[in-house]
Amino acid sequence: MKRKIIMAMMLCFTFSVLVGCAEKREEAQNLQNKYADADLHEMTTFAMDTVMLFTLYHEDGEQILTDAEQEIRRLESLFSVTKEDSEISKLNAQSGLDAVKLSSDTEDVLKRGKEIGELTNQAFDIAISPVVKAWGFTTNGEKHVPTQETLEHLLPLTSIEDLVIDENESTAQLRKKGMAVDLGGIAKGYASDKIAALLKEKGVTSGLFSLGGNIGAIGTKPNGENWKVAIENPLNANDYVGLLSIQDCFVITSGGYQRYFEENGKRYHHIIDSNTGYPADKGLLSVTIISKDGTKADGLSTALFVMGLDQAVQLWRRSNDFEAVFVTEDGRVIATEGAARFFSFEGRDNDFKYETVQR
Ligand code: AMP
Ligand code: MG
Repeated sequence: MKRKIIMAMMLCFTFSVLVGCAEKREEAQNLQNKYADADLHEMTTFAMDTVMLFTLYHEDGEQILTDAEQEIRRLESLFSVTKEDSEISKLNAQSGLDAVKLSSDTEDVLKRGKEIGELTNQAFDIAISPVVKAWGFTTNGEKHVPTQETLEHLLPLTSIEDLVIDENESTAQLRKKGMAVDLGGIAKGYASDKIAALLKEKGVTSGLFSLGGNIGAIGTKPNGENWKVAIENPLNANDYVGLLSIQDCFVITSGGYQRYFEENGKRYHHIIDSNTGYPADKGLLSVTIISKDGTKADGLSTALFVMGLDQAVQLWRRSNDFEAVFVTEDGRVIATEGAARFFSFEGRDNDFKYETVQR
């Protein structure tokens, strides 16, 4: 049953539903009439090193999907670390040398990255790249555990304070030679914001997309019901721990289970704690952020995973622009008060225990 639902989501995002009141049903019927099946348009593409799925309802759906794909490719060509002529590659190549002129999107994403870094006491660190590369995560070579000596040499190059942005000139500079920016923890969230804005501008009022599992919801389903999005069981890709019933927001998950390698029987994942240079190890299996701000949701899912549950909950208590669901190594699924309102826990069969945290 569960597997069926996940498959349905992956295929076309046509999910099961909540029952509404009569008034809502009438409103839904009107909307459904407005959106005939012919208005359903879907697209799958590969970009930013991941699979992207789009579903939307609109009479000009095909053209809008083409525009969305172009927008993704435009952002990828600015942010990629594997394309040598991207603005981020140029910035990295100039580390310790000159400032580099930026387009408004690159300037914006770097500013947002720094801002989330400051908010999270640098648990989110877009300058972590030299260390991530030393582990082999963003290179094509072998993944391996770097020596302590290598990490001690690289960690001083990861301070976001040494990424200087000049807003008047629209430039950025990496102050130390060997520094490098890696937008892997934020680029898809930023792209989600841009895609959602583009779809809305084109008149889409009902749509759902997944940029490698980072979900963006536009409005509701055409019949007025909420979209349903699963939170994966980090221990089993064919299972999930619960369902979020959402509209018009972003749902973004980070977890060590998403990318890792094994060496001498030990598992090492891709989210690095810049205090140690090692994969974050604070007792979490995954963090899901729900927010109206896709960029923030992406940055925070990575950051809160690094911070661990206690610090993450403290940050949530000081904030008012996101909710979260945590899955812990000791088998708990923990929803913040706001998330709990639209989350249905389904992990009992797998011995997960459900808790909520209050403000
Ligand atoms: P996400 O899947 O959004 O959690 O992002 C993970 C990716 O972000 C990694 O593959 C790295 O490219 C990058 N990354 C790793 N550790 C960090 C960190 N502490 N802060 C920011 N980005 C990171
Ligand atoms: Mg992230």
